[in-house]
Amino acid sequence: MTFKLLLLPGDGIGPEVIAEVERVIAWLTTKGARFSVERDLVGGAAFDAHGTPISEPAMKKALDADAVLFGAVGGPKWANAPYDKRPEAALLRLRKDLGLFANLRPAICFDALKDSSALKPEIVSGLDILIVRELTGGVYFGEPRGITKLPDGERRAVDTQVYTTGEIRRIARVAFELARKRRNKVASAEKHNVMHSGLLWKEEVTYVHGAEFKDVELSHILADNCAMQLVRNPKQFDVIVTDNLFGDVLSDEAAMLTGSIGMLPSASLGNRDEKTGKQRALYEPIHGSAPDIAGKGLANPIAAILSFAMCLRYSFAMMKEADLIERAVAKILDDGYRTKDIMQAGKREVGTQEMGSAVLAALDKLAA
Ligand code: NAD
Repeated sequence: MTFKLLLLPGDGIGPEVIAEVERVIAWLTTKGARFSVERDLVGGAAFDAHGTPISEPAMKKALDADAVLFGAVGGPKWANAPYDKRPEAALLRLRKDLGLFANLRPAICFDALKDSSALKPEIVSGLDILIVRELTGGVYFGEPRGITKLPDGERRAVDTQVYTTGEIRRIARVAFELARKRRNKVASAEKHNVMHSGLLWKEEVTYVHGAEFKDVELSHILADNCAMQLVRNPKQFDVIVTDNLFGDVLSDEAAMLTGSIGMLPSASLGNRDEKTGKQRALYEPIHGSAPDIAGKGLANPIAAILSFAMCLRYSFAMMKEADLIERAVAKILDDGYRTKDIMQAGKREVGTQEMGSAVLAALDKLAA
């Protein structure tokens, strides 16, 4: 079977980290994996070439692909681009048109990096949690929204938090299904004590659990308490499912438990087509285009490489290969390889390409 991949490297360090992913793709190809790889522009690069952050042909390729690998977009060069043409608009369009409603953010603390976390090593050592964030509903999209001027001259801003049963049930299912492949525990975070949308969220997650996933352990937690527990005792969690707004905040908090932004992958998934089994998906490192280090060969490519490992696991069911890549990353960290963002005394500082080469060498050893 040949898997169709679309690479959208984007701006800043995006192309630098995706270049290292391409080396991993090429390595897997030598071991018999089959990918057909297409590339296109996105973000500021697409704006410069086509006057739009994502062209229609690129959107078509994304819709046709089995998975999209995205680098990062944005930068000071496009700070004054029209609002609907700003580089980040490409990502919103991709999420919307591909129907990517489930955002998966693992927070894994590699043992070799446990001292880089802001928390005590014993609190984060062995950490492996997954935040499942609803991505296309809630307060970032709800209507009415906007800023109006009142007759007395004051201004008034409105955002609307809105969820339907269908939106809640489909994200709950994603979380329960993922939990079954992990430690079988889901914590659902909302604010049912003060928000109607929180109450509906709790009721609907409970409904889906009772109807389809009784074998999974479910707990409910208030989102503010969840934020506290993430720094008090993060290892109590396995999968956390939450809405768009709380997920935005909680996943960034969880990211920081692990040390560096350059280490963290993510996945965004759509509905699985009942007939074809196809599920649209986009994989990307959580970091941005890092204009401060772009072009200097300093970017850590591990987040992008781990995003590709997630792609192998969730889109292509290539579990063995995904494990292999994750083990290779753990190995080179154990061996002391560090890009600048995760550098520690006594370790070996390397650039983007050297880190990529170290991953390939580790893959060779582990596969031998
Ligand atoms: P950023 O993630 O680009 O950078 C934050 C800090 O982390 C910087 O100091 C950067 O050097 C460092 N960093 C980030 N990734 C790194 C890596 N792989 N290796 C080593 N260091 C790394 O966030 P920002 O500075 O707030 O945003 C820069 C631009 O990126 C903005 O235009 C923003 O809109 C855009 N952005 C894009 C995305 C995306 O494409 N998904 C996400 C966030 C920000």
